[in-house]
Amino acid sequence: MDRWQREIKILLGLLAIAVLVGHLTEHLLLFLLAVTTFLLIFQTIQIDRLELWLSRGAFGDKRDQKGIWRDIYHHIWKIRKIDKKRKKKLSRMIDRFRTSTDALPDAAVVLGSYGEIEWTNKAAREIFGLKKSDKGQRIPNLVRSPLFVQYLRSNDYQHKISIPSPVNENIILQISIVPYGAGLRLLLAQDITHLKNIERMRTDFVSNVSHELRTPLTVLKGYLETLQEMDNVPNLYFRSFQNMATQTERMQLLIDDLLLLSKLETKAKKSECVKIPELLKQICRESDLLEKDERRVQLTLNSDINLHGDEDELRSAFTNLLVNALKYSPADKPVLVSWNKLNDQGVYLEVEDYGEGISNADIPRITERFYRVEVKRNRKISGTGLGLAIVKHVLVRHDAKLEIESQIGRGSRFRCVFPAKRLCF
Ligand code: ADP
Repeated sequence: MDRWQREIKILLGLLAIAVLVGHLTEHLLLFLLAVTTFLLIFQTIQIDRLELWLSRGAFGDKRDQKGIWRDIYHHIWKIRKIDKKRKKKLSRMIDRFRTSTDALPDAAVVLGSYGEIEWTNKAAREIFGLKKSDKGQRIPNLVRSPLFVQYLRSNDYQHKISIPSPVNENIILQISIVPYGAGLRLLLAQDITHLKNIERMRTDFVSNVSHELRTPLTVLKGYLETLQEMDNVPNLYFRSFQNMATQTERMQLLIDDLLLLSKLETKAKKSECVKIPELLKQICRESDLLEKDERRVQLTLNSDINLHGDEDELRSAFTNLLVNALKYSPADKPVLVSWNKLNDQGVYLEVEDYGEGISNADIPRITERFYRVEVKRNRKISGTGLGLAIVKHVLVRHDAKLEIESQIGRGSRFRCVFPAKRLCF
């Protein structure tokens, strides 16, 4: 404000001098014009200097000007100083971010809306074999695994996928994608080779042990059968043989189930058009034959749709559900099996019984391996605790899901829901 007052005073002073001199020389207008022209030229030169200075990047300290121009240059210099400080702070932050993301063991890639690479960390460049110069390239052109490309396009990132690393097939990567911002996606990849190896060792171990146990068990069973058939066996021995036979039978079932489970974990998927209504008729007939009352199982075919899948796997899953329904419900109660169409073009198998039911706390756990609900009655019912684990595995391999509804004392309803893409006619 002071400076402006001084500027105005100088202006008024100059005008007063012009008026005075003009009045004395009787050329008032001429002097006024001369003074205003001088002021105008002076200011124009100052503006020109400022413009030139700004156009060259406003480098250098120009605060040695006079009057109001000194203030103007001072303000610009101050703004530039704050700006420089902010830039320095920002670049320090970016450096820190870069070092920390580069230190991350997991790969991170920021993808644009068309799948183009916007940013990568060090692990991502190593794991995917990317270069810094790949920025802007579409990732499906560089990571060509069909599963990965399909996952990227699906826009459904609820589940993670596993693929071999493009630089080394022995490295298994677990990929997940998190969408954020306006069309951006963060791709995260983790090396899970170690976990996969442990998992493979576990399945190999279970499968090998089961295989090795099979032969001695068959021999044992054979001898037991011979011993049971012998004449004049004392009663005590006979009961012992019976007991041993039951236990070996149980062990055999357990081994068969374990072998089936490890086969499901390792076997390549088969896909043929399985005639489900025929399969269900067969399974129900066979199960009914094992019952005292041969009409316990009631099959209703509300659809004639078939499924793409593996017939043996589906047979074993459906049989397990049916056997359970018969096992865990009273012998005089029916078991309802139906094959139905779903509204949104899927299809489902339903197995319903009027048995003891399962508590809400147990429902999420009964598909776990070896999980058996601890009820008095169950202790007498033989089982391996692997039946529903097999059902779940088979369904996952057929893109289907298992739904369980149950009420204690009323009964249970198991539903296998298959998606539309699995249907065949
Ligand atoms: P298990 O060989 O014991 O039948 P499953 O895996 O088939 O093994 O079943 C796990 C447990 O779930 C069973 O032990 C039983 O307690 C419960 N369960 C399964 N199906 C039924 C059913 N229909 N009604 C009541 N309980 C059931």
